[in-house]
Amino acid sequence: MIKKRISWPNGARCACCVSFDMDADSVLHLTKPNDGFRYVSAISGLQYGPYVAIPRIIDSYKSLNIKQTFFIPAWCVENYPKTVELILESGHEIGVHGYLHENLLDYTLDGERQILEKAMNIFQNYFGYVPKGFRAPLYNFTNNSGELLVEYGFNYDSSLMGDDMPYVITPKNGEIIELPTHWGMDDGPQYIQPFIYTGRPTRSPTSGFEIFKQEFFAAYKYGSLWLPVFHPYASGRLARWDVISSFLEELVSKGDVWFATLGEIATYVRNQIQVGNYHPLKIKVPQYSQ
Ligand SMILES: [Zn+2]
Repeated sequence: MIKKRISWPNGARCACCVSFDMDADSVLHLTKPNDGFRYVSAISGLQYGPYVAIPRIIDSYKSLNIKQTFFIPAWCVENYPKTVELILESGHEIGVHGYLHENLLDYTLDGERQILEKAMNIFQNYFGYVPKGFRAPLYNFTNNSGELLVEYGFNYDSSLMGDDMPYVITPKNGEIIELPTHWGMDDGPQYIQPFIYTGRPTRSPTSGFEIFKQEFFAAYKYGSLWLPVFHPYASGRLARWDVISSFLEELVSKGDVWFATLGEIATYVRNQIQVGNYHPLKIKVPQYSQ
């Protein structure tokens, strides 16, 4: 089923990182720059992420003794610094996720560079922390993203969907480890309503999580990477996180599942490539020159 196999550390059957994109209400202010502040109820639901869900998730990770990765628009550092501090103090990894969750496809190379620099400077100024991981908001990695990530010394990207396994992307100025996921591993299609209720049914916590469980069972069976993309205001809600954290307890108790930050996974994969133990897929980005 999988041609490019890797041996995970300590004989683990698969690697796992439950990643959270802590977008909070950044997207609301991006899409409604003039009057987003008036959407008090929508903001309250989105602020549930930094105020309620993140402390809950951090507690669960602490009791499970695992460190995971959070992608955070730098605007959220300015607006929720205590939450970001809690994540870092607890030993988790934070990655760049735009400034205000911008759709990078709307920007030129210079515009994208300015957003990346602004975001990195904010992490540096607030926490003396330089993130080494990147996930493009909405997964909208552009023709320029790979080159910028190499130029700014990033360890990995986690925006693309080109394999079940970690692989390598090759912009013209170098290489970078890609830790792929896909829309089926995102909680958006299961739970997220836009800012105004559209009548779209919301899945129950167990039925919404079923797709992630099946993805895990395949990763465990075939030795790949299980990389859910969750949002604190969605999957961090009480009943959903109850279901998810119970499943994570089961996985940790198996003893042969490697939970790690994406940074740790990328470093491990890079070392395995360097010593000749892993020969991943290599994909040029952008795929087309025009
Ligand atoms: Zn996001």
